[in-house]
Amino acid sequence: MNTLKTEVRFIKGIGEKRAKLLNKISIFTLSDFLSFFPRDYEDRTKFLKISELRDSETACVRAVIATDVKASRTRGGRQVVKCRAFDDTGSFEITFFNQPYIKGRLIKGKEYIFYGRVQKDFLATSMVQPSFEEYGSIMKNMGRILPVYPLTAGLSRNDIMRGTSAALEAAGTFVADVLPEELRKRYKLADAYYAYENIHFPKTMEDALAARRRFVFEELFFISLGLKQLKSRRIKEEGIFFQDTDTDAFINALGYKLTGAQKKAVCEAARDLVSGRPMNRLLQGDVGSGKTAVAAVLIYLSAVNGFQTAFMAPTSILAEQHFKTLSPIFERFSIKTCLLTGAVSAKEKANICGRARSGEIKLLIGTHALIEKEVGFNKLALVITDEQHRFGVSQRAELLSKGDRNTPPHMLVMSATPIPRTLALILYGDLDISVLDELPPGRKPVKTGLRSDEARARAFRFVKNQLEAGRQAYIVCPLVDDNGNEELKAVEAYAAKLQDEVFPGVEIGIMHGRLKPSKKEEIMRRFAANEIKLLVSTTVIEVGINVPNATVMIIENAERFGLSQLHQLRGRVGRGAEQSYCVLFSQSDNEETLKRLSVFCSTNDGFKIAEEDLRLRGPGDFFGSRQHGLPVLKTADLVSDVRTLREAQEAADYLLSEDPEFTGPEHAKIAESVCKLFEISGQTFN
Ligand code: ADP
Ligand code: MG
Repeated sequence: MNTLKTEVRFIKGIGEKRAKLLNKISIFTLSDFLSFFPRDYEDRTKFLKISELRDSETACVRAVIATDVKASRTRGGRQVVKCRAFDDTGSFEITFFNQPYIKGRLIKGKEYIFYGRVQKDFLATSMVQPSFEEYGSIMKNMGRILPVYPLTAGLSRNDIMRGTSAALEAAGTFVADVLPEELRKRYKLADAYYAYENIHFPKTMEDALAARRRFVFEELFFISLGLKQLKSRRIKEEGIFFQDTDTDAFINALGYKLTGAQKKAVCEAARDLVSGRPMNRLLQGDVGSGKTAVAAVLIYLSAVNGFQTAFMAPTSILAEQHFKTLSPIFERFSIKTCLLTGAVSAKEKANICGRARSGEIKLLIGTHALIEKEVGFNKLALVITDEQHRFGVSQRAELLSKGDRNTPPHMLVMSATPIPRTLALILYGDLDISVLDELPPGRKPVKTGLRSDEARARAFRFVKNQLEAGRQAYIVCPLVDDNGNEELKAVEAYAAKLQDEVFPGVEIGIMHGRLKPSKKEEIMRRFAANEIKLLVSTTVIEVGINVPNATVMIIENAERFGLSQLHQLRGRVGRGAEQSYCVLFSQSDNEETLKRLSVFCSTNDGFKIAEEDLRLRGPGDFFGSRQHGLPVLKTADLVSDVRTLREAQEAADYLLSEDPEFTGPEHAKIAESVCKLFEISGQTFN
């Protein structure tokens, strides 16, 4: 007898060859079949009349073959099998290409069920390549709901169905349930066996939905539990108390008036700081909305209260930029600011660490270098992470742990990726959110266009005009900057070509991830100082760079970027008073891609773009390819499963309030599942 641990090659009808293909899609044992979920269903339960068929719909129709089944060839050499079928409401035409054997399988006068896509206009109704079975026989694939699996070449639906049936049989009528019964009752969730059976072989679509809901819940529940547990371990009752302090003088020193949204965000955060409880706040604002200024006011509050702030950015360029804009302002208020990145020498680093420990440095800005062991503080009261989506959950936690364990620092996480609400709920379930939904005055939306290669000369001429008018420009190529010198050479070669053929005499800078930090900084400094006019770069400029005089951005191979990433890139221009432009080049003729890019061209609204990106590409893109720190969602869809997400979060809250460390025997399986989930994603869950 098979058990769920049986390897797939031992299953009847599967064999070595198919087993290898199955292994490729991570199916090794019968148990894996259970968890290999369909991505969709074909509802073949309703048999329509011919008159009920509608154009473009996929449907089952019951009809009798009316004519001889004829085989012929098209001029192009394709084999065609054709016949007509009828019922008491009408008739329609059926066509098969390159399946000559069909001729012997359809017999005039017999009745069949056909399943396929309907083509219908005012003249005729037809189906091309329908599946079919004789009506009245023991029908295997008609009169029921069939699962649609994500397959790989060489595997068929039947192979998977064979495996899942065997798995369900091996499971008996019982699959150990990771969700306690009480919880299932409260949220009306199907039990594990029912759910496995009905996600694969539902009798009705309602059954399928009920099964799916259970798994979506389960998945979101475990993720929520994991994240909330991390947070609840961190969030102790007591926070560092700040005196309410007047910030007018500091805000005046910024050199501009805060926007209404900035004021509101400052107020919300300041209220947290004087509340005696730790702040856990997400500051979300589109590119260029002025998040740094909000952070600056809070840093000021921290410093005048005698505390220290750690401000972490994902790249050294960005950290350096923050340091350059912030340190002169803080200097005027005698607030000591330092920069710590990988570029800092060992000696200098030791010096900085010493002064941070003594409490002399009030603001330490840096990269991941900030979470290294030797970095410590005297009174760390505020932790800020910029471009939060670039960091893993654990990195945020590590930075926080540099403060006092009993009274943890206040935390502000900033994100320029406008995270759709659903994702924010998952990523930042327990955070309060402030939104900067207003840009500083005088900004003009960036004009964006999609061009093919033929328009390249014109686009470059346009860039030239802008440069001659005193502006600066970016050209971005999607050459991944973290592995391989090949790509590195490509950027350099490309820049050289531009210099020779298009922009002779123009000062061109090249920026990529392989450059030494000091070199990067030098290039950035020269670009910001308007010495470099044209910056050819990989995506290292993606986050946060602020050069208001840059007005054009050209993006090569735009199809390789996610929409949110494109939006980040585009955010580098349109930062000053001048009209800015963004030109996307793409040679793609893929319909989806073009649609995606045209959405991008039509709006500057980061939230809209983020929603669209989420819908089209799934959530992966929001976290970047590395370090997202969250498990991959297998079943849940963050766009359509918001309600279940809320319930799962509520359930997680409830469970954690009852049994924060999952010590109850009925929660043992939960503890195990949560750990497994977060281990898989490469996080240490502690
Ligand atoms: P982001 O939210 O993308 O991090 P930044 O903080 O880099 O945006 O701000 C973008 C630019 O807007 C900076 O040059 C900054 O000086 C400027 N800025 C920020 N707030 C205001 C404001 N209230 N009025 C005018 N300019 C502002
Ligand atoms: Mg920023």
